[in-house]
Amino acid sequence: MPDKPILLSIVVPVYNEELIIEELVRRMTAAAEQITSEYEIIFVNDGSKDSSLEKLKQACVNQSKLHYINFSRNFGHQIAISAGMDYAKGAAIVTIDGDLQDPPELIVDMVREWQNGYKVVYAKRHARKGETFFKRFTARAFYRILARMVSFEIPVDVGDFRLISRDVLEYLKQMKEYDKYIRGQIAWLGFKSTYVYFDRDERKFGKTNYPFKKMLKLAFNGITAFSDSPLKWATTLGFIVCAFSFLVGVYALLSYFVWHNAVRGWASLIISTTFLGGVQLLSIGIIGEYIARIISNVRQRPLYVVDATDETDKTDEESKEVGVK
Ligand code: UDP
Ligand code: MG
Repeated sequence: MPDKPILLSIVVPVYNEELIIEELVRRMTAAAEQITSEYEIIFVNDGSKDSSLEKLKQACVNQSKLHYINFSRNFGHQIAISAGMDYAKGAAIVTIDGDLQDPPELIVDMVREWQNGYKVVYAKRHARKGETFFKRFTARAFYRILARMVSFEIPVDVGDFRLISRDVLEYLKQMKEYDKYIRGQIAWLGFKSTYVYFDRDERKFGKTNYPFKKMLKLAFNGITAFSDSPLKWATTLGFIVCAFSFLVGVYALLSYFVWHNAVRGWASLIISTTFLGGVQLLSIGIIGEYIARIISNVRQRPLYVVDATDETDKTDEESKEVGVK
């Protein structure tokens, strides 16, 4: 019998969320049941170091609509989402964080907008409870800077809680970049999109897995993947500094030959050398960032490595049983 077509896929990245998994499964399932009986929920265990995997396995036992994918190690949030989407079979695909900061109940509204004809439905956050002023401020600033740097419309203040339709996903799968910034990729694709609004809850357990360093990396990926402007800034900055040092040169020559008040020049010397050194390092650094990304794309490694899924585990179990008999 052919499989029933699946209407809705929900992809949930999970990294060290053991304390919340039961509630997570309960609320996700309840939200999905409200919408349709033809759904699947795919949990991607991104190399959790706690008992998240065991908890997920327990939840998926005898539940044909719940699935898990277990990575061989931690590959990161964006990649976990990509893997889940690769496995998703639904006509509409929702990605949502596994820490319940994004309310699963909102998926009902998102699906409604999708049925109204929107191909991308973003969940936009009103408030970000429990997040530090620093995180809110940097996130806000970043989204606005990025929006100015790219040539297409990029939505501000949305994360990875969104719904996309199957055709958007098929295009997304063709964008095989390694340094993923999925929200940028989806914005780049275009399509008719809309928003539903929500207040972002505090994390109930655990702490954020996006410390400043990871946030910075994501921000860099966002910029380098969609904008060449930093490369151009390096050039512009180079020009400005060259022009400035030319003026300094003229001044130095005049002081020496005409005004005869040179020699002391230690200050200008030290300023100009350090300044030039700084600009050069900055420019080389920017170029390096892009080159690093070229390298990772040229290597053509698999984006992620799956250790097991509920399907493979099931077949393993079955073959073991056959072996015993
Ligand atoms: N996550 C993941 N891999 C990681 C880090 C995070 O799969 O390396 C998951 C995590 O379990 C959560 C989501 O990605 O479901 C968002 O992470 P987090 O809550 O730490 O980020 P924040 O909400 O603070 O931006
Ligand atoms: Mg979170």
